[in-house]
Amino acid sequence: MKVTEHISNSKDTIFSFEILPPLKGKGIEDLYAGIDPLMEFNPPFINVTYHREEYQYKEMGNGLLKKVSVRKRPGTVGICAAIMNKYKIDAIPHLICGGFSKEETESALIDLKFLGVDNVLALRGDPIKSEQIFTPAQGGNAYALDLIKQMDEMNQGQYLHEETKNNPSNFCIGTAGYPEKHFEAMNMSTDLKYLKMKVDAGADFIVTQMFFDNSKYFSFVKKCREIGINIPIIPGIKPITTLKHISFLPKFFHVDFPDALSNELSKCKTNDQVKQVGKEWGINQAKELKDNNVPVIHFYTMGKGESVKNIAKAVF
Ligand code: FAD
Repeated sequence: MKVTEHISNSKDTIFSFEILPPLKGKGIEDLYAGIDPLMEFNPPFINVTYHREEYQYKEMGNGLLKKVSVRKRPGTVGICAAIMNKYKIDAIPHLICGGFSKEETESALIDLKFLGVDNVLALRGDPIKSEQIFTPAQGGNAYALDLIKQMDEMNQGQYLHEETKNNPSNFCIGTAGYPEKHFEAMNMSTDLKYLKMKVDAGADFIVTQMFFDNSKYFSFVKKCREIGINIPIIPGIKPITTLKHISFLPKFFHVDFPDALSNELSKCKTNDQVKQVGKEWGINQAKELKDNNVPVIHFYTMGKGESVKNIAKAVF
């Protein structure tokens, strides 16, 4: 079922979460062990991230180094199929522009259509780790906007080289939004302008980058509504669980901790103390979002299902 249908069929805020495919070599059982405890909160869908290749240098044994392309977390599509099969709920694969030509994108979408996947989160992807600037693959989409346009055309039966009006896809298309602005955007206004273009091109729902200050989400939603973005805007939140997160999350995701949170985190000396602060903050954030009737709360688990469960227990 489409995310938009799940939302319109639900009287209350929906619980959902996002998982990462396991590192190469790890089994899917580890993933199930993280999902199982969250099933009691009845998520109607689970997002599965997509991880592109990165470059590593391997010793050749003769003093030379060889540049090799490595994908550490493959398996997004297979995991979606496994989730749909095991839990009988929807799985939402993330699909990125980076590393895909338009032909490869089309083939990936055809695979998803055959699998019965109804929703796809369409993203540009970050620059490859060793590069400063995002570079599209040859013949690939440069922005999420272009990917959404390609998906929208497929939804109308227009494939890259064929028109098959009898067999269009019917994807519900998700896109990313940034309550604190995307880090490359010149300012909030240009970022919102491009978000509006993504919506006009066919996006059906927005999932936000994580944020720790609900006022930033509420202000973002207000600005979106003012420029005519009327689709659901799903807030994404992340429990802080380790001392490492204190510097990693702001650096990697370009988000700020509000003073009340940073003051509490500054006092923490152990991971357990951080986990407690993160749990209390997450509960308060989720409660306020739910009280404001957000359609869904999307939890970034990043492999920390237990912390998400602690928050969900107090809120759902
Ligand atoms: P875009 O919407 O293309 O925007 C990128 C930048 O370009 C922005 O600064 C925007 O303002 C600007 N821009 C947009 N359109 C245009 C245009 N037409 N002309 C000029 N400028 C433009 N990454 C992954 O690799 N895998 C994942 O699974 C993944 N999941 C994510 C899930 C969510 C909910 C979010 C919020 C992010 C996720 N990301 C993921 C990260 C995402 O890929 C990065 O944030 C990436 O840098 C931008 O992706 P986007 O889809 O927002 O890009």
